[in-house]
Amino acid sequence: MRLKDTVAIITGGAHGIGKAYARRFAEEGAHVVVADIDGQGGEATAKAIIDAGGSAWARSTDVRSLPDIEGLMHETVKQFSRIDVLLNNAAIYVTQKLWKGPVEELELDEWDRVIEVNLKGVFLCSKAAIPIMKRQRAGKIINIASGTFFSGSGNMPHYTTAKGGVVALSRVMARQLGEFGINVNCMTPGSTMSEESVSDAVLKRREGSMDKRAFRRIETPADIVGTAVYLASSDSDFVTGQLLVVEGGGIMY
Ligand code: NAD
Repeated sequence: MRLKDTVAIITGGAHGIGKAYARRFAEEGAHVVVADIDGQGGEATAKAIIDAGGSAWARSTDVRSLPDIEGLMHETVKQFSRIDVLLNNAAIYVTQKLWKGPVEELELDEWDRVIEVNLKGVFLCSKAAIPIMKRQRAGKIINIASGTFFSGSGNMPHYTTAKGGVVALSRVMARQLGEFGINVNCMTPGSTMSEESVSDAVLKRREGSMDKRAFRRIETPADIVGTAVYLASSDSDFVTGQLLVVEGGGIMY
């Protein structure tokens, strides 16, 4: 087990790829805290983990709210004494519908809605976890960006801009936190079939990315979770400020 007895908070762990990180981290021996705005969905993820013999706790959390996040950090430390890993995965993308279209037609409210969760949420969760990790003089922050940061594809100006901000923030935090033994890294999954029900339209959209890849197939959450385990484990102790592209060789940089 590569994460035995580590305490890992996974935001957005109720659905999609976040649920897959939660399950895999638990299989690797972590105590998983599922922090999602969908409290019931988080409970379901935690129950599935516990039923499979793992350790999990669901805590309904809105990553837009600093008091809510501070409560999450406080209760996690009360329960488990420490926070080893913060995986900033929550976003508006699949479960909460994302508007798509040309930048000049993007409404201000929709811009704010997405930036608030997908970028400010990463900042707020990190802000609340850092003092705890500094006291421990150890911790791993893993931020989830997106391949759209490189390609500009997907017709999602606000989403892609937020992900670019996540990459930049990760690099700043890596520089600032190295002296405290805290690693900060970023991952960019490609177009991944994270939907819980797959329609023909979804399948077609996900298949659309296959031809650009070295590995010509659809990406699934199972393709991504191992990289997150690596970044959460001691195997990556000397790796910080990096951006790991996990998308079957579609982007090479
Ligand atoms: P998803 O929409 O299914 O999952 C996002 C999760 O975040 C959901 O459980 C949702 O309830 C939660 N969430 C939303 N708003 C929240 C809030 N305010 N507070 C707390 N939780 C909130 O999306 P996914 O496909 O599983 O994507 C997971 C991550 O991977 C996201 O950061 C996404 O941007 C990124 N990503 C996904 C893909 C893809 O193709 N699926 C590609 C690249 C990057």
